[in-house]
Amino acid sequence: MTEKPALKLKRLQDMVVKGKRVLVRVDYNVPMKGGKIEDNARIRETLKTLQALIDGGAKVVLIAHLGRPKGKPEPKFTLKPVAEELAKLLKRPVAFAAHCVGPEADKAVAALKPGGVLLLENLRFHAEEEANDPAFAKALAKHGDLFIQDAFGALHRAHASTAGVTKFLPGAIGFLVQRELEFLDRVIGNPQRPFLAIIGGAKVSDKLGVLDKLLDRVDALLIGGGMAYTFLAAQGINIGKSLLEKDQIEAAKRVIEKAYSKKVECLLPADHLAVREIKPDAAVTVTQAMSIPPDLIGVDIGPHAIEFFQEQIGKAKTIFWNGPMGIFEIEAFAKGSVAVAEAMAEAAKNGATTIVGGGDSLSVLAKTGLASKMSHCSTGGGASLELLEGKALPGLVALAS
Ligand code: AMP
Repeated sequence: MTEKPALKLKRLQDMVVKGKRVLVRVDYNVPMKGGKIEDNARIRETLKTLQALIDGGAKVVLIAHLGRPKGKPEPKFTLKPVAEELAKLLKRPVAFAAHCVGPEADKAVAALKPGGVLLLENLRFHAEEEANDPAFAKALAKHGDLFIQDAFGALHRAHASTAGVTKFLPGAIGFLVQRELEFLDRVIGNPQRPFLAIIGGAKVSDKLGVLDKLLDRVDALLIGGGMAYTFLAAQGINIGKSLLEKDQIEAAKRVIEKAYSKKVECLLPADHLAVREIKPDAAVTVTQAMSIPPDLIGVDIGPHAIEFFQEQIGKAKTIFWNGPMGIFEIEAFAKGSVAVAEAMAEAAKNGATTIVGGGDSLSVLAKTGLASKMSHCSTGGGASLELLEGKALPGLVALAS
């Protein structure tokens, strides 16, 4: 496995910020419902960096993305509600500009006073952001004298605001990124064993590579959520109408074989909650075993699986969790995810190191009020997985070079 090289990174505290325009990349990709912020954790996590900049007399220009607006403005993905929430949390005004580049943004930046804060509109309203377009990166860089990278959740992407911009401005990492790296590096470098990873969610194809690499690090791997069904199918088990990525079956088989050869326990749900139709008031069947009848869809792990997952969590000294165990957005199918969260909180109380990454897993913690019980909640699902995988994060490589 390619280990990530040690990167030499400047830190916010190494920089002189007084009177300077400081361009800060933050991760404000918060869960929204009907124009309201469902969980402000990602905003709260940036306050330490922002307060240090404000107290240091910097002019703070924030850049961020929200959702997947496909490279053009879409009102439902505006960052305006985030500016309002940030103002409440900082207890000071936060200016908002309806564009992240161009005359309106330039004017808003020019109007900033030392200690002032400005949030620019969603970077992803421009296709150039994800394309890492140099001209767009340069236009963003124009807003600052210094660049602070504090968007841990965006570091695994080489975008204009994470990689491109670093070519035009001196840069450093903010306090949020520092904390994430310190914590995840410590756990990756020298985890207390047994080390257990629990991986769920729907995107099998996104996570198979990570699962493969995790097998080099962990002692046991629990797979739940929609992705478990591709693994069950790979073992010839009937999964009814459950989520399946047919083109990933061979890869799933390879993961299972690798786990076997490395003597890593790779465990799948022993039973499931299944429904005929995915809707909140659907009649729920608890399957008798691992297999699912032909007309049913698996929507959550079942009671036996919960019990077994809880036992495994109880035995582990380091636990990493990414991805829900079921369609947790519907309360009746959130039992498995809540049970994992509760078992991890209990394990943390008993001295285990518990790390949770990924927006959906964090939503489960927010709903159950268990976030503060974990050793560490990572603001970046993808980035934390890639760090665990041993990959260098493009956003950090760009900053270090
Ligand atoms: P991901 O982005 O891959 O972490 O997937 C998160 C999504 O997985 C959530 O929106 C869940 O609703 C979904 N999910 C979890 N379990 C299942 C399942 N059994 N069937 C379909 N989707 C699921």
